[in-house]
Amino acid sequence: MILHSTHVYAMGDHPRSTYNPVRVLVVKNARSIELRIKGSYKKVDFNTGTLLEEGKALQKTAIHAQDISFNGIKILPEERTRLYVNNRQFRGIIDILKDEEGKVFVVNHIDIEEYLYGVLYHEVSHLWPIEVLKAQAIAARTYAMYQKLVTKNKFFDLTSDVYSQMYGGRTSETRSTRKAVNLTQGIVLMYDGKIFPSYYHATCGGRTSDVTTLWNINLPALKARRCDYCKMSPHYSWKKEFSFDQIKDKLKASGYDMDIVSIKVMERDNSGRVLDVLLEGKDSDMHLSGNKFRLAIGPNELRSTNFEVRHRDRYITFIGKGWGHGIGMCQWGAFGMAREGFKAHQILEYYYPGADLVRVE
Ligand SMILES: [Zn+2]
Repeated sequence: MILHSTHVYAMGDHPRSTYNPVRVLVVKNARSIELRIKGSYKKVDFNTGTLLEEGKALQKTAIHAQDISFNGIKILPEERTRLYVNNRQFRGIIDILKDEEGKVFVVNHIDIEEYLYGVLYHEVSHLWPIEVLKAQAIAARTYAMYQKLVTKNKFFDLTSDVYSQMYGGRTSETRSTRKAVNLTQGIVLMYDGKIFPSYYHATCGGRTSDVTTLWNINLPALKARRCDYCKMSPHYSWKKEFSFDQIKDKLKASGYDMDIVSIKVMERDNSGRVLDVLLEGKDSDMHLSGNKFRLAIGPNELRSTNFEVRHRDRYITFIGKGWGHGIGMCQWGAFGMAREGFKAHQILEYYYPGADLVRVE
């Protein structure tokens, strides 16, 4: 028998009428993790649900890969119990599992609303106006529900890093982010009656990008929009200089081994983002998509694909605009809109044109 943890948790004194769980990968590729529990808990076999241990508290304990049986462990805390993995507190249930390479990974099963409590802090400043936080809560809820619908992974729906939505567990909650989640409880964005991947990014730099430039999705709610609201963003414009050797090393590390002499932008989309880069080498040339090139150089160094290239001696300078892929809501733009008095639903209507706000409970 496979124990459905979600049911166990839902049967407790959960304050909400519906329990809509998401599974979030919170630790991966680890040799060991540290677990600490303050309060009553049950430890069961992940696959069979057999009770392995019952306790009132657990001192900080290292769990190594070799301590985990093939089946894995599930920790079921009681309502008031505080559970910590690597000193970070998590609500909900924790699975401690082992991957094919024998490394430890941890999955947090948590109600989507409580999950969002732990997301917002990392995605926007908790000091921003409540209308931005509400817009962000709705976008993040929609994104999580979309991932839950489409995920193919057997063990989790979402990761907790920049490639999905940042999530820091209970440790990352603040009063204002909890409030924004509660005020928008159950509300998601839909287009044509369907939940869609409501992408968002830090700063568009003047114009958001059409989703078709990155992914093969044709969705009117993810079309490019002009954005006059993010000019105060510290990422609105930037400059980054590299030596040719640095560029060469970065490209090599990403599998593009060439002796580069120049970089030329060949094609841009209608938002100004680079679609095609020509890398000219001593012996041969190579084309890369703007996105692949950005990932190869490092997405935090080359903050967007909206850049110009300047060559000087043995240096290449990128002069760019914005931070992130540019699709969907511009977070700094949302901040700018809220400061001008726009409400959360207006911010979302602006960045996801034609989308409806629907309460799903
Ligand atoms: Zn913007």
